[in-house]
Amino acid sequence: MTRHFYIVSLGCPKSVVDAEGIGQVLRVQGYERADRPENADVLIVNTCGFIASAREESIAALRDLAAHKRRGQILIAAGCLPERDDVALNVAVPRLDGAIGTRHWTEIAALLEQLRAHGRQRADYIHWRAAHPEVTSLVASLPRIAAPGASAYVKIADGCDAPCAFCTIPSIKGPRVSKPVAQVIREAQELVAQGVKELILIAQDTTAYGRDLGQQDGLPDLIEGILTAVPDLPWLRLLYSYPQHITSRLVDVMAAREQLCHYLDMPLQHSHPQVLRRMRRAPDIAGVRRLIATLRQRIPDIALRTTFIVGYPGETEQEFAHLLDFMREIAFDKVGVFTYSREAGTPAATLPDQVPDELKEERFRRAMELQQGISLARNKAQVGRTLPVLIEGQGDGISVGRSYRDAPVIDGMVIIPGAVPPGEIVPAQIVQGLEYDLVGELAM
Ligand code: SF4
Repeated sequence: MTRHFYIVSLGCPKSVVDAEGIGQVLRVQGYERADRPENADVLIVNTCGFIASAREESIAALRDLAAHKRRGQILIAAGCLPERDDVALNVAVPRLDGAIGTRHWTEIAALLEQLRAHGRQRADYIHWRAAHPEVTSLVASLPRIAAPGASAYVKIADGCDAPCAFCTIPSIKGPRVSKPVAQVIREAQELVAQGVKELILIAQDTTAYGRDLGQQDGLPDLIEGILTAVPDLPWLRLLYSYPQHITSRLVDVMAAREQLCHYLDMPLQHSHPQVLRRMRRAPDIAGVRRLIATLRQRIPDIALRTTFIVGYPGETEQEFAHLLDFMREIAFDKVGVFTYSREAGTPAATLPDQVPDELKEERFRRAMELQQGISLARNKAQVGRTLPVLIEGQGDGISVGRSYRDAPVIDGMVIIPGAVPPGEIVPAQIVQGLEYDLVGELAM
């Protein structure tokens, strides 16, 4: 009899990729995906442990499944949370049967086998650590596709070596391991052969790709390799680039290659040099200004996205005002604002002058309100342009999709009256700009 698994994926696109990888491993083992938890033999939550709110969401999802778990079902926590805090997780979700972290999920079948062998007694809660963390096996197993349909994420590396003082990722994931070029290209070819129209390269820092393989500027070569191997791919998109790692070659490739979306997601976290120093990030904000000027001069239609943290320990009103001024000056197309989350085990957690929650929230609101006005102006400036739009859904007489200016999930969409088949890329003339989205009309 065929066994079924049900999986919930939380967190960032990288986590979604891992969840898809878990699904692939289980399908190879003969499992099929269930669309409802009650139809599954195995329930999995691929958790996010990045910040407190994400952990709470993950625990809530596990508890929800645990509450309705029937006899014989196995409940597994996968991903960042078990990697980070196994004991607390087991306490928080007493009906949990097993846990498997970010570096071991390829062995989920072995974990399930052990749980079955133990008769799935409560006492047999297993946190799977008996993995094979050798780099070769990890690289061979880095998953590739996540988003079903016309877009797919390709994870080109996993882990991070950066010293950012607020971030738990290096301790959860370990140092960066890049996937070999040939493997990325092979996966790109397979995905395009399956009809994928947009490949999205992801890693904790895509611009550091290849350093662990001895390449100092590996990403432009990787992009050239992919685009040469799949000349018919309409869109290749980059996420998570670290400003100081964006080289002139990368700018050249983006300017020259039409398939590479004129879109750059460059998390800056702050603008004030002192805050950046406390964050243990490069404080060279003048260099960031020069980079942005170069990008806009070489690629005039580029859409720039960034993220900022407000309420970082010691952030003064004057430092926060610096950030607002910087946002006004640069006028990013899209900005994600996050309140600082004090994460145990990080250097930032021990810094003095932690900012009270109410003040963090107030700064969050002020930054968001400012950016809404800026994004609205940037979107209104699109009116009159004709943009290719990748359609992702339709209903009630409208179709929705994304232009090169929008990454899935984190950005906005283009709304088009009429029914266009999902997966098609169609030209749309933009007639209205809203705070997050655009409205267009089919231009065919
Ligand atoms: S570069 Fe990103 S993932 Fe790496 S430590 Fe800094 S914030 Fe964390």
